[in-house]
Amino acid sequence: MNESATKPVATSDTHFAAVAASSCRIDPRRVHSLLGTLSSRFTLVALAECVSTNSVLLERAGQGAASGSVLVADRQTAGRGRRGRSWLSTPEASLTFSLLWRFEGSVARLAGLSLAVGLAVARGLANSGVGGVGLKWPNDILLAGGKVGGILVDLEAAADHSLAVIGIGLNLQLPPDGDEEFLHRPAALAQVMARLPDRQQLLAQLLTDLAEIMDRFADGGFAALRRDWQAYHVWQGRPVRLLDGVLVDRQGLCMGADSDGALLLQTDAGLERCLSGDVSLRAV
Ligand code: ATP
Repeated sequence: MNESATKPVATSDTHFAAVAASSCRIDPRRVHSLLGTLSSRFTLVALAECVSTNSVLLERAGQGAASGSVLVADRQTAGRGRRGRSWLSTPEASLTFSLLWRFEGSVARLAGLSLAVGLAVARGLANSGVGGVGLKWPNDILLAGGKVGGILVDLEAAADHSLAVIGIGLNLQLPPDGDEEFLHRPAALAQVMARLPDRQQLLAQLLTDLAEIMDRFADGGFAALRRDWQAYHVWQGRPVRLLDGVLVDRQGLCMGADSDGALLLQTDAGLERCLSGDVSLRAV
């Protein structure tokens, strides 16, 4: 078992204690009590607003914040997606948080981590009573034919280990119609649930599943999780094209993920792999 990856380490960051921001919808003390025996592995901060939970947590990671630090915010003024894209959330409609996790070894050992996070979120949602959750490579969370959640994983090398800041945004309600053009149709938990889960319970459940999956990832990498990920993969055997920016890079049948998280694409030339996180998958 990789101890440094699974237990919070001491930190000198006294600001990063379990504090409640009175105006935030999440009360960290409530989430801690819901976490039960896992509570000691997490340290929660709740903010009414910040620029981006990933950006703030990355900064705090550099100042020594412990593995298991969680930053949840009602509102992000510049929520980030992959490749400079934005993630939109509103206090009423969303749950948005980031989790810091430290791993033994180099960043190279973290191949497939964002898929592992997708698996943890899918499980957390299923364990919260959300039926029909699916995953799309590399890390989109799908529901009712649309995108219900986004994941952004920032990786950094530290002196003697590596760290990941894992950002997760979920739609409880559909985002309001605006001038934003969504790449994929958005989806929301409210579309499939008569009664939405309490967001503090939902956060505690997601952290519970993240802890279990991060432990398994630290021990065995994505290879140890591949079969479970594949069970949620909704584009298995589907004709797809890979977009490199706006250009079509390759086309074929989507065969899921390899043991290092690479996309497997069955093309006329045979079974091809794509490990780059800079491409997007689209249905043909
Ligand atoms: P893909 O892999 O399909 O190209 P992506 O992984 O690059 O997508 P993300 O970084 O996960 O995309 O998310 C950013 C995109 O998600 C934005 O460009 C926007 O279209 C869409 N988006 C932003 N906010 C929301 C939201 N609340 N619900 C659903 N989709 C959203």
